[in-house]
Amino acid sequence: LIERMRPFGTTIFSEMSALAVRTGAVNLGQGFPDTDGPPEMLAAAAQALADGANQYPPLPGIPVLRRAITEHEQRFWGLTRDPDTEVVVTAGATEAIAATILALCEPGDEVVCFEPYYDSYAASITLAGAVRRPVTLRPEPDGRYRFDEAELRAAFGPRTRLVLLNSPHNPTGKVFTPDELALIAGLCQEYDTYAVTDEVYEHLVFGVPHTPLATLPGMRERTLRISSAGKTFSCTGWKVGWATGPARLVSAVLRVKQFLTFVNASPLQPAVAVALGLPDSYFSGFTAGLRANRDRLVAGLTEAGFGVLPPEGTYFVTADIRPLGGTDGVEFCRELPGRCGVVAVPTQVFYDHREAGRHLIRFAFCKRPEVVDEAVERLRKLA
Ligand code: PMP
Ligand code: GLN
Repeated sequence: LIERMRPFGTTIFSEMSALAVRTGAVNLGQGFPDTDGPPEMLAAAAQALADGANQYPPLPGIPVLRRAITEHEQRFWGLTRDPDTEVVVTAGATEAIAATILALCEPGDEVVCFEPYYDSYAASITLAGAVRRPVTLRPEPDGRYRFDEAELRAAFGPRTRLVLLNSPHNPTGKVFTPDELALIAGLCQEYDTYAVTDEVYEHLVFGVPHTPLATLPGMRERTLRISSAGKTFSCTGWKVGWATGPARLVSAVLRVKQFLTFVNASPLQPAVAVALGLPDSYFSGFTAGLRANRDRLVAGLTEAGFGVLPPEGTYFVTADIRPLGGTDGVEFCRELPGRCGVVAVPTQVFYDHREAGRHLIRFAFCKRPEVVDEAVERLRKLA
């Protein structure tokens, strides 16, 4: 194994899901739903298989899906794009993130990101030979995660190539505010950098607006916006994602993507196109269901004695283990199945400055309400 990949072990998601299987614990660790996505989407995939959509699709994705992606972006975010030149379909958001960083970063270039970050960010930046410049999100007494403006400014410099922004943010559940986005956009322009936005939780916001960075003045031309069907349509195993942006950036991503996967599962593409075209009521109903789950889990964790940091978006909630006498999240999560039959994920593994997250763990609430209730019942034993 090459030197620079050695610090990367097995992902925490695989480790914790294996622990859940081994112990029979309720798995609120890895974020995947335990129900299927919209029936129209599932039927369309079955139909596509039967209809023979089983060979290589075009490199950027099938035209029907590219059009559906642009129509969805127009409907929800008011962004107008050309489906022929400004969209690329990828193997989940994960491939889009990797291909984007590999396409835009020279070795030694710097990537500004916010820690804790989704674990593939560090690996993709490292594979590109680039350097991450993490800005720490810290929970404040009001339960919101914030960053320090001076720390963000200090992360920018002459070698900054791009900002990698995830909002709504995994694992904190933070939704970046309009002021924070304006600050980031201003710095991108001052330092003439690109922005790559990971918006896989774009529909999962609870009472606060999600604003794509690409919609801010001056940002459209320098931003690649990434999303995925996995979260919005409860099909994380399908790995259908996409990136949209100005043609010159999309064409750079395609140059790399063609040698990573070339193309992605053809029968799933028309099905995701159907899902993206579902009426607004699908999206609002999906969010409302998760919001109820969030409220259940936040209340249950609070009762169990955790210091809960209620999320404004995503399907994760983070909690401070110190009120329960815990000090180290990794240790706490390894012991949790034995103590009460629940699996969670320590978030310190998503920081460069691990100390900042040592006492924080993450629970996923993208599960059937009865599963969340069962987990809460078990966690009560900790109090
Ligand atoms: N970005 C974030 C912030 C995520 O939480 C995830 C995990 N679902 C991904 C990207 C990966 O998405 P996909 O499964 O579509 O590759
Ligand atoms: N995105 C999901 C999470 O954060 C799953 C990621 C994974 O398994 N790689 O839990």
